Amino acid sequence: MDSIKFDKKVENDNLPWFKEGLKFECQRCGRCCRGEPGVVWVNKTEVVGIASFLGITQEAFARNYLRSINGRFSLLEYGNGDCVMYDNGCKIYAVRPCQCRSFPFWKSNLESQSEWEKLKKTCPGIDKGKLRILEDIQDNLKIYEARFG
Ligand code: SF4
Repeated sequence: MDSIKFDKKVENDNLPWFKEGLKFECQRCGRCCRGEPGVVWVNKTEVVGIASFLGITQEAFARNYLRSINGRFSLLEYGNGDCVMYDNGCKIYAVRPCQCRSFPFWKSNLESQSEWEKLKKTCPGIDKGKLRILEDIQDNLKIYEARFG
């Protein structure tokens, strides 16, 4: 019996700082989609899904909305840094790429509580809305790491 208690304690000690979960709900403010130049990676599966959602061919989608960077593809952005898919909100929110979908549960943001706190300055969705449980956060983290880690 004692060893079971001990094992549970060890297990708990190994859990990350966000073991009780974290609150996040996107407020759709668009701050992360506008202004600063950046890249939003899109893979083949996402191209298929987004083109279908927009009701256009994959070729038309690639021609009008993607740019090639070192053999990979990113969504285009306007000269002012706004994402080409942003128009008073994300035009493809339901099928948005993994990079957007897994935000803010990226390794860099979860490294410490202070990194998470820092995000509040730029993202008003942090610590808002529904509590996301540990498993949910870790699933997002795994998806992001498998793609970009
Ligand atoms: S900055 Fe945060 S709240 Fe605003 S659109 Fe991006 S994820 Fe949503």
